[in-house]
Amino acid sequence: MTFRSLPIIEPILKALEEEGYTSPTPIQLKAIPIVLDGSDLLGCAQTGTGKTAAFAIPVLQLLSKEKSNEKKRKIRSLIVTPTRELAIQIGESFDAYGRHSGIRNTVIFGGVSQNPQTSALQRGTDILIATPGRLLDLMNQGYLHLRDIEIFVLDEADRMLDMGFIHDIRKLLGALPKKKQSLFFSATMPPEIVKLSASILHNPVSVSVTPVSSTAETIRQEMYFVDKGNKNSLLLHILREPKIKNTLVFTRTKHGADKVVKFLQKHDITAAAIHGNKSQNARQRALSGFKDQSMRVLVATDIAARGIDVDELEYVINFDIPNIAETYVHRIGRTGRAGAKGTAISFCDREEKEYLRDIEKLITLKVPVIDTHPYPLTGQEPDKSKPQALHAAGHPNPKPAASQKRTHWRSTTRKIN
Ligand code: AMP
Repeated sequence: MTFRSLPIIEPILKALEEEGYTSPTPIQLKAIPIVLDGSDLLGCAQTGTGKTAAFAIPVLQLLSKEKSNEKKRKIRSLIVTPTRELAIQIGESFDAYGRHSGIRNTVIFGGVSQNPQTSALQRGTDILIATPGRLLDLMNQGYLHLRDIEIFVLDEADRMLDMGFIHDIRKLLGALPKKKQSLFFSATMPPEIVKLSASILHNPVSVSVTPVSSTAETIRQEMYFVDKGNKNSLLLHILREPKIKNTLVFTRTKHGADKVVKFLQKHDITAAAIHGNKSQNARQRALSGFKDQSMRVLVATDIAARGIDVDELEYVINFDIPNIAETYVHRIGRTGRAGAKGTAISFCDREEKEYLRDIEKLITLKVPVIDTHPYPLTGQEPDKSKPQALHAAGHPNPKPAASQKRTHWRSTTRKIN
């Protein structure tokens, strides 16, 4: 199946070819015709499934079909997304797929000066991509209104609620015209999301490609049991492997992220942290360094990592096991995107074993255990007086784990459609 078999107009097909896309992903295959048809859409899809293009392509096409003749462009489509990183990435996708369409987009988000954003709005835009806070702020200041919106997209609705944006969303909904086409995307569908979607969508068509309980088949998963105090050394041990190039490491807390970065830098591994306490500039710098591979390790917290989209990200390391099982699926979904290969390595200490049980229940899969590493779980914290990196620098634990057998991963994950 190619993009040419979908009813997509030539300028967009040309842009997709230039992007190197050959065939649509399942969500694109299902969603594009529905949206082009004018229906509301309820999409259950996680990041990494190609969901951005699934809405960006038909939005661009619908808007270019009826170009407005007015002198100043009107905001005809609004995309609301929870984080600045996601907003920027969605903007880049619209730029890429819409480069021959003559449709203009503008991205607005908080944490930076509003001046360039208000100037862009004053020049006029067809599509506005926004995080909720800055959007409401600029609306209240009179820089924009939403009266001309024809297509409204709410992206990552579950994360939006997690981040406490529900009141902002309600305000936004009140400012949108009654008659419009709405597209609603969420990786998970808990009851409050279903309720929210019902208040937005009219006779929607539901499309579900990769429910959150399933992990991409292309991702190899590995579990390392390790004492908490040995996690740094284990990380270093793993990163000594030169084939592991750029790696995204997840920690539960901002403080934890900073500590890991400091430790890695001390051992000559280029690393930076990305989390809510970092300025927008610092985040962007870290992300660009990671993307152009001048920096090997990016350490992120869950919220900050939302929207990190790096092509060919082969490794994700869960330095901590997330206490919410769905987060595990989101995290490892950063690798193995769009059919590429990926490996997700997790470090589990004694206290985290119960989180692991929840995860395995959710994904209906036992994550294969690697028990041949030099820092097996003892249940006892290490002697802090000994230098931590000694083992990692090539002196493995004199008492290796009982079994030397490496567990090989098999593609047993089921796709539940
Ligand atoms: P998303 O789920 O929208 O975050 O997309 C995940 C990644 O897949 C992004 O890097 C896209 O550029 C890429 N992508 C989306 N659709 C396709 C496609 N049809 N072929 C190849 N790559 C794609």
